[in-house]
Formats: sequence, C-alpha cells, structure tokens
Amino acid sequence: MADAVPKQRLTPLADSTLERNEVRKSCPDPTRIAALHALQILDTDPEDRFDAIARMAAAQLQADVASIDFVDATRVWSKSVWNGRLREFPRTESFAEWIAKTASMLVVPDMQSGGRLRGFYRPDTVLQTRFFAGVPILSSSGVVLGALCVAGRQPRTDLKPEEMLALENLASLVTDQLELRQLRQRTALDGSRQPETLPVGEQLQESLQESEWPTAAELEYALERDQFLLFFQPEVEIATGRIVGLEALIRWQHPRRGLLSPQSFIPQAESNGMILPIGDWGLAHACRQLQAWKQNRPWLDHLRVCVNLSARQFTRNGLADHIQSLLMSTGLRGHHLGLEMTESTLIPSISKTVGVLNSLQRLGVSLHMDDFGTGYSSLSHLHRFPFDVLKVDRSFVKRMTMGNQPLQIVKTILELARVLGMDVVAEGIETEEQRMLLEKLGCRYGQGYLFSPPLSAEAMEKLLESPEIRIGFSPEEQGLRPAAS
Ligand code: C2E
Ligand code: MG
Ligand code: MG
Repeated sequence: MADAVPKQRLTPLADSTLERNEVRKSCPDPTRIAALHALQILDTDPEDRFDAIARMAAAQLQADVASIDFVDATRVWSKSVWNGRLREFPRTESFAEWIAKTASMLVVPDMQSGGRLRGFYRPDTVLQTRFFAGVPILSSSGVVLGALCVAGRQPRTDLKPEEMLALENLASLVTDQLELRQLRQRTALDGSRQPETLPVGEQLQESLQESEWPTAAELEYALERDQFLLFFQPEVEIATGRIVGLEALIRWQHPRRGLLSPQSFIPQAESNGMILPIGDWGLAHACRQLQAWKQNRPWLDHLRVCVNLSARQFTRNGLADHIQSLLMSTGLRGHHLGLEMTESTLIPSISKTVGVLNSLQRLGVSLHMDDFGTGYSSLSHLHRFPFDVLKVDRSFVKRMTMGNQPLQIVKTILELARVLGMDVVAEGIETEEQRMLLEKLGCRYGQGYLFSPPLSAEAMEKLLESPEIRIGFSPEEQGLRPAAS
C-alpha cells in the first residue's frame, strides 16, 4: 500500500519538542477510511478484547483514563474507554488528530504548562486531566487508524522507557486483535457454509437418528461394560523434548463401530447429561493411571496428567471437593493434575467462574485454557480468570508458517502470556519447521504429532520406561542437547 506509513519504532515527543519535530508522512484520509472499513471497526459496539487492552494500558501506566480511539474523515471515535465515557468528538485539533497525522507518540507531562499544545487539547480531557500520553494504532500494513491514549489527573515528570514500550506493545496488541477478529470472521463464514444438497427421505431420517446417536442409555451401557479408555499424548519442552505432562484423551472402544474419537460421542454426552459420569470416570482413571506409573519411577515425579473438563462438569456444585477427594484417594498432589477448559466450558457468570477456578487453584491443581484464540473473548477471559497455562489452538500453529499475519497472532499470544506470567503450550505441532519457529519465538512447551500422537496406556508406559526419555529428536540430537533441569 503506497500511502501507508511504515511501522516504525516510535519516539516520544514532549511538548517542548513539538515545534521542532517535523511532521512525518501523514496517512491520507481515504486510505485510513478504506482500512477502517476493511477491518469492520467503525461504529461497532465495544468488545471485551479491546476493553481489556484499554484496562491494561491504564494499569501499566497508572493512568486514570485510557481509551482506544479511531480517526475517520471528520471525527475521533472511541471504541473502548476505561474509566470514562465512550465518546465521539471533532477530529480537528485533538490529540488523536495530532498522533494520526504524525504517526508519533505524544507525551504531555503537564497540560497546564503545555502552552504550545493548547490547540491540540482533546476537549474532554482538558478540564480533568493534567497528564496525557498516546501512541498511534496502526493496521498491519502500517496505516494509522487511530490512537491508544492514557491520561491522568496528576502531572508527571515524564514517562519511563519501559512505560513507553508497554504503551507501544499494547497498541500493537490492538493491531493484532483487529487481524485476529478478521480472521475469526472469515473462519466463521467458512464454517457456516451450507451443504449444497440436503438429504431427503430415508437419508434425512437416517441422519436425524445419527445426529442423536449415542443415546444416554447406550453411553451408560458402554460405561458399565468398561468400553471407554484413555489415550495419553505427551506435552513436551520444545527445546529438549523432555516430557512435562500427559493429556488424557478419551476413546470409546465400540464393539461394532471400532475405536471412536471423542468428537463422535462427547457432544451428545454433554447434551444428554452422561458427560457427568463419563467425566468422573475419566478424571479418576487418569489420576489412578498416573499414580501407577509413578510407582518405582522417580524420574516421573514432576509429571502431571491433564484432563479435559466439559461445561457440565464445571458448573456442577462441589467440583473442587470432588477433585480434592480424588487427589486424596489416589495419593497424588495438586500439581500432578491439570484441568483443561475451553472458553465454552466457562459459565456466563464471571463471579461464579472465578469462585470455582479459585477453589480449584487452592488445591494446587493447574488450570489450562484450552484451544486459546478460537473462542469469543479469549483476551478478557485471561485477565479475569486465574489460568496458569495457555494452550494455543492448533489452527494458529498450522497457519503460522503460511504468512506474516498468523505469525503475528502467535507472537502476540506469546507476548500476552509472558506479560500475564503464564506458561504456553502450542498445540498441534506437526513439523520441524513449526517446532523451530516456536522455539525461536520463545514458546516453551508444545504438543503434537511431531513429538508423539496420543498413545494407548500400554504404549505410553513403554515410552515412560526410560529415565532418559526425550521425544521428537534423534538420539544424536538428544546427546547434543543440554539435559533438562
Ligand atoms: P483437545 O483437548 O484440544 O485435544 C487435542 C486434540 O488434538 C486431540 O484430539 C489430539 O489427538 C489432537 N492432536 C494432537 N496433536 C495433533 C497434531 O499434531 N495434529 C492434529 N491435527 N491433531 C492433533 P482428540 O483426542 O480427538 O480430542 C478432541 C477433543 O475432544 C479434545 O480436544 C477435547 O476437547 C475433547 N476431549 C477429549 N477427551 C475428553 C474427555 O475426557 N472429556 C472431555 N470433556 N472432552 C474430551
Ligand atoms: Mg485439551
Ligand atoms: Mg486443545
């Protein structure tokens, strides 16, 4: 895009330097407006993910107000405001206008001494605030879309370099969220594509029956007959191949249909309620299996087993008590168990969710957000809920080596996890190229066919036999790599 302003390291600009600072190449309005339209951001409702970024900006800079503002032809329009009102105001001579025009950071330590900046005061902040800082929000191709702004009631001496960096990083998080949002919209469109022909007559009848399969009675029968089993897939340290955890993945050994994947019966078990007894079986079986493997194998002391929780299990009263008694009866410690939840598992009531998660965390159990990035408001959930581990959905890992945009999304997720002090597990690593790239980006843990597919308990036991176990590397490579701590 010829008119775009290249993404560059932004320099802070104090009031005193305003006059001397040459105005950089500005972005023509039609280019900006085309970009805003393409990103479908103009005049849309507030969204959790942007609110979360505004909130983070206020927290990082200890500001009283923070906002994400976009600039169109004539006005500045807030997509998100933390601790203030959503607003729209004329673009002319506002701070956002200045930032958009210069593509530079603007810092005004004290507005009362900012004589030369008076013409650029943002109308609503003049009266209440003394301090202001803002950075441009760019599209991924470098078009200035608006500004991420913070303001405070007290004057500041100046901004520290790490505060400026934090603000810049958060502005690029807005960019990444815009991309992510578009990606999701596209994926949703693909997913909702209707089949070209509908089944008719018998076919329709059959497919209706099939959609209700398996019934609660069939699942109950399978549970009684011990037809469910757990496979285990290692989670490894990407750099060394050391196994750090095992994810328990349920299968159904159906007498006629063969070995069935969870997708073919878990959704139905969720809707008919059978997920509760099946889930209890899975939790107990996974804990017992890990305890059995740990016996006489001291090198497995650190190992944890991770179990997927469904929404119904999560909302059930007394979940933490149930897990506590399970840990006691199997002799495992809290840190030996991880619980994986997707966003759809979490219930709408935030306070109740936080309560349940806190009670689980008090047991020392680690909490994993599964399939991160596929849900609606992943970002805000991370801020609100005390997750320890973030599992990047495999769709991102798959696309990561296909283009700059998906790569940026993975980078952003990793940066976000770093800021929030969470561990990251990248799911679905299938190639050495993906593994190397993730290692380079600082992603510590991974899971996927490159290392190992999900294995039966027998096959997993063989793998765990050796104290030297490293997977995903040839023996020569293993010898060359430093031993894991
Ligand atoms: P999940 O928790 O995200 O599990 C990871 C899925 O990705 C597994 O599918 C695994 O086999 C697959 N996978 C692992 N590595 C790769 C790879 O490199 N490439 C590709 N393409 N796929 C990979 P699986 O076993 O079919 O499980 C699917 C989902 O079913 C799980 O997704 C989980 O949400 C659910 N599930 C599995 N076991 C249970 C359970 O005991 N309870 C509940 N509630 N849900 C379960
Ligand atoms: Mg999982
Ligand atoms: Mg997953």
